[in-house]
Amino acid sequence: YTAKSSRVGQHVYSPGDDSNDEARLRTLHELRIALAENQLVLHYQPKVHLATDTVPGVEALVRWNHPTRGLLYPAAFLDVAENGGLMRTLTRVVLELALDQAMLWQAQGRTVTVAVNLSSRSLADYQLAGVVTSMLTDRGLPGSALMLEVTEEFLLVDRDRARNILLRLRNAGVLIAVDDFGTGYSSLAYLRDLPIDELKLDQSFVIPMLDDDRASALVASSIHLGHSLGMRIVAEGVETAEVLQQLERFGCDVAQGYQLSRPIPAAELERWLDARTALPAGMRAIR
Ligand code: C2E
Ligand code: MG
Ligand code: MG
Ligand code: MG
Repeated sequence: YTAKSSRVGQHVYSPGDDSNDEARLRTLHELRIALAENQLVLHYQPKVHLATDTVPGVEALVRWNHPTRGLLYPAAFLDVAENGGLMRTLTRVVLELALDQAMLWQAQGRTVTVAVNLSSRSLADYQLAGVVTSMLTDRGLPGSALMLEVTEEFLLVDRDRARNILLRLRNAGVLIAVDDFGTGYSSLAYLRDLPIDELKLDQSFVIPMLDDDRASALVASSIHLGHSLGMRIVAEGVETAEVLQQLERFGCDVAQGYQLSRPIPAAELERWLDARTALPAGMRAIR
């Protein structure tokens, strides 16, 4: 088994290449235990609104606190979860963790929207919208406490189903982001009729944008496109102050990336947020 693409969820299983099947099976077995024994944890990465220097939301990114292998990143286990039929359970576990955290933050008077990633396989979950809304109700959270990040692939697999699920979520107040925007094989047609709040420009355009005119043109025109459709634009993979400045000049709304903060545990994020608000705006790490 080899990864044909570095992008999570998009690679192809190749029969015949079974050298790592044993490792995959072991990971699958251990992941089942991990899901039951709460070994998954979330790290949170802030999204910074450039014009106001505030943090309207954070993205929840799953990690596996593996008993012997240490902290594992999604690339090490998400495909195994997908192919092993564990994605539905994993998604629900992540939603529970994220919404429990959102509830704590709400009680502390912090108004941050927590974003959770949905794999395209989540489309197969007929109960998804209902499960999400009852999770919110159980915690007394408004729909707007949650944002769901979906990929173009999610929107493409079955357009009517995707539309149906997203409209039900939207009716509950949940926000929707298109993740890795610009990297899928889809047409732009979905932007016309799906309820999308946020476009997240993929880091493969953002990271090289200062040295690559074409990447830069794609970033600038995606910002125009999104704005003309009433969507908020988030740049992912903002690794330097220079890129951040250029994004501000382009009129990008929100930035996310190592220049601002890596994904970090909830307690660390709280300290990060508190330290920022204690600083005068001009002195924050953002510039
Ligand atoms: P994504 O949703 O596009 O998340 C952004 C990824 O880029 C994260 O990797 C994040 O740590 C990384 N990143 C953030 N800032 C920077 C930066 O400035 N430079 C660079 N080079 N990278 C940056 P991570 O946490 O390893 O997650 C990888 C992917 O795994 C995510 O991509 C998402 O597609 C998936 N994923 C993560 N958590 C979940 C989850 O709970 N459920 C599902 N279904 N997928 C998840
Ligand atoms: Mg994401
Ligand atoms: Mg992304
Ligand atoms: Mg990605």
